[in-house]
Amino acid sequence: MLNDEALLRYSRHILLSEIDLDGQEKIQQSRILIVGCGGLGNAAAPLLVAAGVGEITLIDFDVIDLSNLQRQIHFETQDIGENKAEILKKHLHSLNPNVTIHAVIEKADEALLLDLAKNMDMILDCTDNFTIRQAINVVAHHYKIPLISGSAVRFEGQLAIYDFRDEKSGCYHCLFEGAHSDDGACALLGVFSPVLQIVGAMQAQEALKVILGLEIKVNQMKVYNALTGDWQMFKFARNPRCNVCHEKEVK
Ligand SMILES: [Zn+2]
Repeated sequence: MLNDEALLRYSRHILLSEIDLDGQEKIQQSRILIVGCGGLGNAAAPLLVAAGVGEITLIDFDVIDLSNLQRQIHFETQDIGENKAEILKKHLHSLNPNVTIHAVIEKADEALLLDLAKNMDMILDCTDNFTIRQAINVVAHHYKIPLISGSAVRFEGQLAIYDFRDEKSGCYHCLFEGAHSDDGACALLGVFSPVLQIVGAMQAQEALKVILGLEIKVNQMKVYNALTGDWQMFKFARNPRCNVCHEKEVK
């Protein structure tokens, strides 16, 4: 049941017939794992916390650097040298103290993610690391929960949803099997800061739609070009030989 404070805090959401009181209660019962507290995490997490998601776990091992402040807009100059997950948690707690927020200050790997994702409703991939992206994909597939994946580099953003509740959904590995691991390269490339806000907001949007049971589209990659302001959509199919998600057919 929503109390008076919640009815007022979330009133502009509750007014939407697609959300209403039932939807707001669903939001408050949901649990989301956010991997990465850089630009995408900074954009997606505040929207989910403001919307009243029940529980959020943030993972990031990294500390805040002066060069992050151009785009990771919930970090302040005085936060330089502090852990990203810890500082984001503090910011989110003052935004909405009703949300339970955990900050995990560890390097994400498959074992840690398997543990943290155990009771989660979905995972948001807000990282910039190919190896961790592959591990997140394996873990989301293991628990059969949706994975909402975002990325941004230069003037381009990408968004894809791998919904492992849906047998027909492809996975990150289906799409990027042949991609080379080039960890750390993203740190050397430029990125136009609004792209992170746009893609991170899209990740929060799709996460809320998953919670509300609204239609989400799988097997498509949406690509945003900030120079033209246009989105393009590319369809893909599940790879029947993918060594992450093909097991359904082998059994
Ligand atoms: Zn696959």
